[in-house]
Amino acid sequence: MELVVATGNAGKLREIRRRLEGIDIEVLGMDVFVDLPEVIEDGDTFAENAAKKAQTIAAATGRMTLADDSGLEVAVLDGRPGVHSARYAGEDADDAANNAKLLRELSAVPPERRQGAFVCVMALCLPEGECRYFSGRLEGEILSSPRGDGGFGYDPLFWLADKQKSLAEIPLDEKNGISHRGQALDQVVKVLQGD
Ligand code: IMP
Repeated sequence: MELVVATGNAGKLREIRRRLEGIDIEVLGMDVFVDLPEVIEDGDTFAENAAKKAQTIAAATGRMTLADDSGLEVAVLDGRPGVHSARYAGEDADDAANNAKLLRELSAVPPERRQGAFVCVMALCLPEGECRYFSGRLEGEILSSPRGDGGFGYDPLFWLADKQKSLAEIPLDEKNGISHRGQALDQVVKVLQGD
């Protein structure tokens, strides 16, 4: 069985590939295909964007496709950056620019009001268009300066109180064991294994 993972985000792909290791399935990145259509992530929800990515790539490749739409929701910012997490500081923003903007927006917010949550919705779609959805959520706090150099995205700013570490300070397998993406992937694996 083959599975295309529809993401251009190297950090996400690394975590998804690792979780699917050992399962009898061949994981294909988008790089093995040519001329795939561009998917504009203009949905208002994680589920809409995940479905759009997975359905478009499943139809184009003729293979079952998994897509992840995820982001960081900060309560005191009314849920921002949310579905706009990848482009928070602008269309071509990188992780450093997004993290810098988040720190600016929270500069006057004291530690006890810096709760945030990573949210992930995955869509597993067949070429004919039928999809199943899976989700996960990880609660934490937003630091006032980055810690650690693992992970990707907002990981260095995401504090896990029970571990006394940021998400960028724990190994990939440990992150997959607790994260929003890891929770969704656990359910995907069950479906792929026919449980
Ligand atoms: P998407 O490609 O629109 O789903 O963008 C997701 C964005 O949310 C990423 O570019 C990151 O900025 C952020 N994000 C999602 N998951 C994580 C994570 O596990 N760690 C850190 N940042 C994440």
